[in-house]
Amino acid sequence: MVQTKTVLNTEQIRKDFPILSRKIHKNKQLIYFDSAATSQKPKQVIDAMDFYYKNYNANIHRSIHQLGEEATAKYEEAHEKVAEFINADSYENIIFTKNTTESLNLLAYSLTANLKKGDEIVISQMEHHSNFVPWQQLAEQRRLKLGFIKIDGKGNLDKKSINENITKKTKIVSLTHASNVLGTINPIKEIAKIAHENGAVMVVDGAQSVPHMPVDVRQLDADFLAFSGHKMLGPTGIGVLYGKKELLEEMQPFLYGGEMINEVTFKYTTFNQLPWKFEAGTMNIAEAVGLSAAIDYLKKIEMENIRNHDKELADYAMAKLKEISWITTYGPKERGAVISFNVRGVHAHDVAQILDSEGIAVRAGHHCCMPLMGVLKVPATARASFYLYNTEKEIDNFIGALYKVKKIFGV
Ligand code: PMP
Repeated sequence: MVQTKTVLNTEQIRKDFPILSRKIHKNKQLIYFDSAATSQKPKQVIDAMDFYYKNYNANIHRSIHQLGEEATAKYEEAHEKVAEFINADSYENIIFTKNTTESLNLLAYSLTANLKKGDEIVISQMEHHSNFVPWQQLAEQRRLKLGFIKIDGKGNLDKKSINENITKKTKIVSLTHASNVLGTINPIKEIAKIAHENGAVMVVDGAQSVPHMPVDVRQLDADFLAFSGHKMLGPTGIGVLYGKKELLEEMQPFLYGGEMINEVTFKYTTFNQLPWKFEAGTMNIAEAVGLSAAIDYLKKIEMENIRNHDKELADYAMAKLKEISWITTYGPKERGAVISFNVRGVHAHDVAQILDSEGIAVRAGHHCCMPLMGVLKVPATARASFYLYNTEKEIDNFIGALYKVKKIFGV
């Protein structure tokens, strides 16, 4: 922990997150281990949104007045900041949506022009329902084949299965960059190469990677990348779809209406330029302002430092959990900031409830990965997920609370 303790000042960071000083169940100090579901927000983000509403709230791209111009500038700047954050060429590659789910649905609706019966889409066994159900529905509607890359015994994507699934028939490969259950970080760059060699586009679900590590779309050679603001210190209600310009230009809009048009006549409509062609109606302006502030915050701390911190916490917690014979953990050694586990003979919901009574927030259930639960042969897992504000001391308390679970259930 030496590096992180000097590079990342957790004590200082925690002061920026008002919620972390909250007491739970009257007197228990909150330990928030559910950042994979949604992260907490620093006051810099909360203040930026508050300032927007108090000082320059107006609709964008249409108001010829000072407030409208200020709001438009900030909204457009948010696109530029996101582009820079993931090393995209320009703001034109950045579409704002509601969340990762909407970004992936947009693709499943719009990335379909060249698909014909018998074409294949490849996903994996570890996908979140957001990167599963839209493709499954599309496959059903258009009579396409949906293939699944298997996971191996450790929880990594099986290399043989990658090569077997991605073929010349494959048109779309859509994979999570980091698993929200197993913590696995997938080798997207290598898989994108295979996808491209076979003439397929590579879609990446970055919901669990973009908040936690440096993600560079050019280095990955991802054609599309979807992620959510609320998991990266930003507000709910704003997500991102990055896309390569030539692909976005070819795609039909997902939603039609105001703002996404260039010209509307009684006979025809032409569409606006990128990225506005995909942003119909009044968008989430305050949320874009909040996302900008979140990116400023993350950049100041540096994503490399956040990755190191997350990794050290995950390694520390895994080492402790591995020592406990009545606990099973899932996923590979090299992982993101996520640990799924079960206590022998106790349902994950009961584990989560006892931890909650100790002030520790974890998630329990299928984590929107029902097919993966089937592969793991469990109905559910409990999941502890960490972020830049978590500490080793919190993990020690968490381990202590697990012994309470053991005692109550007589494990
Ligand atoms: N993909 C992954 C890997 C996720 O972890 C999540 C959120 N749990 C999503 C997609 C969906 O994100 P959202 O609910 O913000 O759309």
